[in-house]
This record gives sequence, C-alpha cells and structure tokens, in this order.
Amino acid sequence: MAREYPLERYRNFGIMAHIDAGKTTTTERILYYTGKSHKIGEVHDGAATMDWMVQEQERGITITSAATTTFWERTEDGSTALSPKYRFNIIDTPGHVDFTIEVERSLAVLDGAVCVLDANAGVEPQTETVWRQADRYKVPRIVFVNKMDKIGADFFNCVRMIKDRTGATPAPIQLPIGSENQLEGHIDLITMKEWVWAGEDLGATWEVREIRDSLRPLAEEWRGKLIEIAVEMDDAAMEGYLEGKEPDMDTLRKLIRKGVLTLSFMPVLCGSAFKNKGVQPMLNAVVDFLPSPLDVPPYMGFAPGDETETRNIERSADDAQPFSGLAFKIMNDPYMGTLTFTRIYSGTLSKGDSFLNSTKGKRERVGRMVMMHANKQDEITEAFAGDIVALAGLKETTTGDTVCDPNKPVVLETMTFPDPVIEIAVEPKSKADQEKMSVGLQRLAAEDPSFRVETNFESGQTIMKGMGELHLDILIDRLRREFKVEANIGQPQVAYREKIGRAAEIDFTHKKQSGGTGQFARIKLTFEPLEAGSGFQFVSAIVGGAVPKEYIPGVQ
Ligand code: GDP
Repeated sequence: MAREYPLERYRNFGIMAHIDAGKTTTTERILYYTGKSHKIGEVHDGAATMDWMVQEQERGITITSAATTTFWERTEDGSTALSPKYRFNIIDTPGHVDFTIEVERSLAVLDGAVCVLDANAGVEPQTETVWRQADRYKVPRIVFVNKMDKIGADFFNCVRMIKDRTGATPAPIQLPIGSENQLEGHIDLITMKEWVWAGEDLGATWEVREIRDSLRPLAEEWRGKLIEIAVEMDDAAMEGYLEGKEPDMDTLRKLIRKGVLTLSFMPVLCGSAFKNKGVQPMLNAVVDFLPSPLDVPPYMGFAPGDETETRNIERSADDAQPFSGLAFKIMNDPYMGTLTFTRIYSGTLSKGDSFLNSTKGKRERVGRMVMMHANKQDEITEAFAGDIVALAGLKETTTGDTVCDPNKPVVLETMTFPDPVIEIAVEPKSKADQEKMSVGLQRLAAEDPSFRVETNFESGQTIMKGMGELHLDILIDRLRREFKVEANIGQPQVAYREKIGRAAEIDFTHKKQSGGTGQFARIKLTFEPLEAGSGFQFVSAIVGGAVPKEYIPGVQ
C-alpha cells in the first residue's frame, strides 16, 4: 500500500502555552475547522479527544500528551481551495509546570509548534519555561496572540515581551483590527489585506478586503519591519531590498519560512479562539511556515550499546528505508487496552509486524494500530514515516523507547527523566484496597516515567514520588477513580536531589506553609565543571511552581 500523503504535506506540531492562555480552546477550534469534530465544545466527548481525563476537565489543565490527526486545505478566502490537503498531527503539550516532563517528551517527537499567548498577560513565567525547552529541542515556532477580545488585550505589548523575555526575534505577520469587544479580525501583512469576521456563525465565514485607510499607515510601517527581518534570510533578496525592490508575496513567504526553519525569527499572529477569529489563517501559517518532516535535521541515533557509533536517521520520504520510531506516550484506552503512541521516523510498519525494541533489547509484535482523530479512532493496517500511531498489544515498550527494524538496529537519542522531587505516603484502607492499589500503581508508573513508587522499609508504607504536589494529587485522584482504591494519604514531603557528574545539578523543592495549603517552589541550579578541574561554574537556574513572594526581589 502506498502512502496517501506525500511527506512534505505533513505537519507534526504541538500547541504550547501557559495554562489558561487558551490552548484547549484553540485546539478545539482547530479540530472544528479541520472538520473532524462535529460541534464546538464536543471535543471533550469520546475517548479519542485531546483532554480526555475527568481531572483535566475539572481542573482545567491538560496533562495527557495524545496526538490527533486531522486535515487542512489551505484556503485564502474561505471558498477556494488553493492547495492540496495537508495532514496535521497535533501533539498535545501540557502546560502545567509539574508536567514539564510530559512537555519534554512531546517536544522530542514534534517538528514545530504554535505558541499560544494570552494577549493580556503576554509572555508568562510558564511560557518562558516551555519556550526554553522548545529552544533546547530546536523547535521552530509561530506565535498566536490569543484572547485579543479580552479587556486589556495588547498585541504590541506581547510582541515586546517576546523580545524582552525570550530574546527571540518576533516578526508580526498580522496586526489586529480593533481589540477587546471591538475586535474585528486582522490585517495580513503578507497579502496586505484585511480579514474580518462579522457573522455569528462560529467563524465559518469571513471577508477578505482592502485595508481601510485609517489603518494603512500602520500596516505599511509593520510590513516594512517584516520585510527588513525577512530579507536577512537571503543575499539576493537583501540586495534587491537595498536597491529599493520589495520581495513579491511568494518570495516573502519563502523568506519567512526559512527564518522559521532556522529559528532566526518567529512570526506573530493574533486573534481570539473563543470568538472564532483568526484560527483559519493560523492554520494556513502552519502550512506555510512550520516544517514538514523533510525540513528538520536528521534524528540522532546510535548503535545499540555503543554511543560512539552514530546511526543518524535521515528524514526521507523513501518508504523502503528501515523502520524506526520512538514511543513517547503510554495511555490506557477502555476498549483497546494499553496504547503506545509512537512517532515513525523512517520506513513503514504493518499490522502484525514484529520489530525490535532496541532500548530494551526485546522483540515486540504489533497487534492493532490506530490513528487517533478528534471524534473517532481509525484502525489502520500500515503506517509510514511521519505518522503518529497508537500501537496496541505491546508488552515491553515504555515511554522513550526506540522501536526499529531488527536487521538495522538503532537507538535514538534518549529522553532523560529528572528524579521526582515530592513524595507522599499512601495507606490502603483494607486488604482489598491494597491489591487494587498495587495494580493501579503499577499501571500508573508504567504510563509516567516521572512517577515512582517505593516502599519505606521502616514503616512498610507505600511512598509515591512525583514532580509536584499537583502531579501527585492527580495520580491519587486516578487511583481513586479508575482503580477504586480507598486510602489514607499523608502529607507531601520534599525530596532533595544533588547530582555531581560531568555537569552538576542541585535540584530542590522549597515548601512553605500558608494557611494550611503547602506552596512549592522547585529550584534547579546547574553548574559546569571549570576547565582546570578546580570546581564548578554556575550556569543556570530554573524556578518553577508556586514561588513564595519573598523569593522575588521587590515584591512585598
Ligand atoms: P488552556 O489552559 O491553555 O488549555 O486554556 P483554555 O482553552 O482552557 O482557556 C482558559 C480560559 O480562557 C477558558 O475560560 C476559555 O474560555 C478562555 N478563553 C480561551 N480563549 C479565549 C479567547 O480567545 N478569548 C477569551 N476572552 N477567552 C478565551
């Protein structure tokens, strides 16, 4: 069977954001406009949705890292299809600091990202954390300034904050038309047209028209800035520009694409997911500017057991290449059992195939394979490079494992998981609870490498260790709901970790009691050895969680 979509028409991307910036709403709208979800707000129904766990809905956070496949036809005016369909695999990246590890593993398998900002709050501390992680994985990004309809929305302030807080170069390719409850749409600085959403039809229709006279000078000014940044990408374009020639529309798009792929700058777009304004052009920007799997550098690979022998995996549309992939998320499906979400980097995988888990040195066989859509799961028989599939029936494979052709074994660059920083004791109420608890804990630990279970030898108590209070809360909640365990829960305790290796890390959690509720700050300091071997030099500090006021200078 041949692949349906050429690899250059794949976009594997994530939506990253600070909690509450509107990631869930934006994702819902994307799934709505790409036609895979029946009605706005229905994305939460059914098993194959982005936010499928009860806790997430109650707490309003996203902790799972599923992937959803959907399709988009790039449109310019809402009616004419200008290009063939693109295949989107949207990889969910959680936004809460306690689950940055989940963010890391999704970042390892995506090729690009849309960073959603709250137009009022701009670049928030958590955005900075996620941003740094994306920098580390060299993830090309576009920025969507969401909530332009909200009181206090300030697009230009967000643009400034991107520059000041992250050091990246923001390149607005749109300007808002109006803001707060006067938000109409935006000016597209590439086509120099207005996009206006007028109807109450959930954003289904919009009008593309000439820029109104009152906004023309501002649009000209910002188009000038955009061109100035873009022509840096190409000598010929720069020469032309210096001679007074502006790049045409196609050239400008190509220059921006180059800027994104080389992480030289980040296009900034705007709108309101909630008010259905600006989502479709953002999807066009995903097509225009985010990489296909062919645009990213080869994936680093090694011979199993020998890190000195590199076996990098070239990005290639040649399906005859040996199969390789990375398992990045384990989930339990009520009907299919354990599902192992796997990104395929090269070759093909067919139902019934047996392959090597080169991380563990074990053979595995694919029972069933499914492709997750917003409102359904498609059972498939063959998957290709670029695809993200959920494999059922695997016995040995866990998050971070490489899967590959047994005749061409390779181990992909492994993901590292930090040690847990908070622990809590749990005591089942009865013997029956004890049994249910061990099954539950085993299952949860298999799904989540940042969660550990230990027994305290002195007290005989079971100790759950995780990345933060909320992380443990959610796991305890799941023990109660999914495994019907009744248990007494102790007070969270702080775990302290110090690791002096080639680079030294001190990772500790500060706990402050305030009115009965614990507040945690997680602080990670990194040091590098000095050349002379005489000591260590401070490199960076990462602070996460709820930081007590006295930690922040100038705050009373
Ligand atoms: P997440 O935590 O990033 O997934 O954020 P959600 O999508 O759950 O949104 C958080 C809150 O902001 C919800 O109450 C949304 O209804 C609201 N919200 C999301 N997008 C917009 C927007 O464009 N405008 C306004 N005014 N509110 C929004």
